[in-house]
Amino acid sequence: MNADINNIVILTGAGISAESGLATFRGPDGLWEGHRVEDVCTPEALARNPVLVHRFYDERRARLAEVAPNPAHQALAALDAAWGGDLLIVTQNVDDLHERAGAQRLLHMHGELQSALCAACGKAEAWTAPLPPASVCTGCGQPRLRPDIVFFGEMPYDMERIDAALCRADLFVSIGTSGAVYPAAGFVQTARHAGARTLELNLDPSAGSAYFEETRLGPASELVPEMVRELLG
Ligand code: NAD
Ligand code: ZN
Repeated sequence: MNADINNIVILTGAGISAESGLATFRGPDGLWEGHRVEDVCTPEALARNPVLVHRFYDERRARLAEVAPNPAHQALAALDAAWGGDLLIVTQNVDDLHERAGAQRLLHMHGELQSALCAACGKAEAWTAPLPPASVCTGCGQPRLRPDIVFFGEMPYDMERIDAALCRADLFVSIGTSGAVYPAAGFVQTARHAGARTLELNLDPSAGSAYFEETRLGPASELVPEMVRELLG
């Protein structure tokens, strides 16, 4: 499948980390780790109940120590290392499993658990410990640090760079994402418009399956290494 393919954009979602033991966003009960999305994933929730929201992300951050990258993360890191053309892995995940597998050409469009963001000056800093509300920013000294997570209603990171990569892509692959959250759910249409081939790897057909030329259904730990073998010939 690699004839004529030089530039690749790969979008990943919670499904790629599911086999590492991290819960996906909307479980069968419609909840993320027992919480309604509106209660832990919006600016209003943070303003209303900072203790709950900070504790929720503290728990998610602590959990990272108990999980490891799976063969899907490892295969993408191997592709990144070996691929001579342009490649960009755009993850919606806030875990660090792609980088722990060794991926380098990686963007976290929805933020990272291991980062704290100052709501006063906008400085982000690496953060691995619990983050109590009103923690003090090392940049401006204000007690305004919050989890560096892009909440619903906030602008995802690096959109210009992602858009530019999509417009040059020869192949766009979406892995383990439900296609329910925009703007990521629209990447497939941008890439198609630009003439890219489009491939979806997911456990179940996603909300956007119809937009992809090809959909392969199964666990990421099997489908992703198989795709990488095909690409590297
Ligand atoms: P989602 O939970 O909405 O969808 C997950 C998708 O993965 C589903 O379509 C499901 O069929 C598929 N899936 C489940 N197990 C799979 C497997 N083993 N192999 C392949 N596919 C599998 O996730 P999403 O689309 O990423 O949701 C968006 C938001 O969830 C993101 O904004 C992200 O920030 C947040 N989130 C991140 C994490 C994380 O960092 N690990 C975890 C939960 C939620
Ligand atoms: Zn600050």
